[in-house]
Amino acid sequence: MNEKKKIRKPLGVARLIEGKCILCGARCQSICPKHVVTMTEQGEPVIDISLCTGCKKCITICPSQALEIYFTSEQEKILEQIARDQQETLLHEEEPEALEKPRGHDEYRGVWVFVEQINEEAAPVSWELLSVGSVLAKQLDVELCAIVIGEKVEQLCHLAFTYGADKAYLMDDPIFRYYRTEPYFKALCYLSKKYKPEIMLIGATGVGRDLAGAVATELNTGLTADCTGLAVDNERRLLMQTRPAFGGNIMATITTERSWPQMATVRPHTMHMHERDTSRQGEIVNEKLDMYEEEIATKVIEIIERKQSGEVDITAADYIISGGRGLQSADNFRLLKELADELGGVVACSRSAVDAGWMPSEHQVGQTGKTVRPKIYVACGISGAIQHLVGMQNSDILSQGKLKP
Ligand SMILES: Cc1cc2nc3c(=O)[nH]c(=O)nc-3n(C[C@H](O)[C@H](O)[C@H](O)COP(=O)(O)OP(=O)(O)OC[C@H]3O[C@@H](n4cnc5c(N)ncnc54)[C@H](O)[C@@H]3O)c2cc1C
Repeated sequence: MNEKKKIRKPLGVARLIEGKCILCGARCQSICPKHVVTMTEQGEPVIDISLCTGCKKCITICPSQALEIYFTSEQEKILEQIARDQQETLLHEEEPEALEKPRGHDEYRGVWVFVEQINEEAAPVSWELLSVGSVLAKQLDVELCAIVIGEKVEQLCHLAFTYGADKAYLMDDPIFRYYRTEPYFKALCYLSKKYKPEIMLIGATGVGRDLAGAVATELNTGLTADCTGLAVDNERRLLMQTRPAFGGNIMATITTERSWPQMATVRPHTMHMHERDTSRQGEIVNEKLDMYEEEIATKVIEIIERKQSGEVDITAADYIISGGRGLQSADNFRLLKELADELGGVVACSRSAVDAGWMPSEHQVGQTGKTVRPKIYVACGISGAIQHLVGMQNSDILSQGKLKP
């Protein structure tokens, strides 16, 4: 028996980020299960790293994200050793063919974009996806296809051609009048099994998230949700899907290497929408699904609009004046409102401003808020954390403001 002893992976230790503690009243100390946090006279935590187990409880409870995990130099050495051991195991255990670079699957070709629609009107994210899809299709030298499902929606196929689609698969039937998971996912799976696309893009909207998960499960393929960047590796015919990971602290590029189609959802406003070319035309392929209303369990009885009067849609604004913790009070948002009104824009904010109760959550920009793409985005009192940046980095002009309230 020559088995190597398994090394325990270190979890890191907690530390205070200078200048971020808001002296909340020792929440980190009260939650620590190992009692390794003591407080200074000013009310800031001091952590005994020799006893900290890296459980992250203090990090989760901290209202100002003033604590973070880091690895001591001894722990880093252990992590490097684990990585070396894993590499060695992989080299010895992996089948030679599994290590070969995948080159796509010959049966699967083409880039597909699901055109989401409500009441025969397409969600703009569909056109954004066709725009990025046309770039990917060109690089892979394949067709760009729009998938149009609904009732009386043929005109959306023609619109899709003007945004770059070469072909549209149309399923036009009263059964698709309202979005319901069952008929829509069955329709998309039917098309995918028949025509075999290599890439399928869907908007990360409420409908898109629901549909994409169901389709990926049925097709037994990978799905990368909420992508903020897409590209292709031509040689391996892989879709490089970039999205925030580990709580938004890193941007990860993910690939689906051994199942097809490669599926991704993309948040609205993350991709640039190309200008329409009204002269473009394409081929419409009519398809039919053998499905009857009586077989569908879900019935739509009434549609209730969630939008209340007076609610602001920050995603549609051309000018956004945004405020963060640096504004120091709810009252100071009045200054931003004055500027926004002058420009005909809207006020948005960071999560800190929402957490502080200064702004309602519908105004939050970022990973857990909304993605915006205005002509001008002015950020006042916002530090630019990655979770905020992913929601506004594609704005045309970015400006950081210093406030003198
Ligand atoms: C899973 C997860 C999801 C998240 N999702 C989001 C999200 O969707 N959106 C989001 O915004 N955050 C999100 N966050 C939080 C994010 O990590 C940051 O904590 C947050 O964005 C910081 O907000 P802020 O920039 O307003 O505050 P701070 O980082 O505290 O920055 C305040 C800034 O104001 C400046 N300042 C102070 N006084 C003035 C002044 N007088 N004039 C000008 N500047 C001044 C300071 O120098 C500083 O740069 C998320 C975090 C996690 C873990």
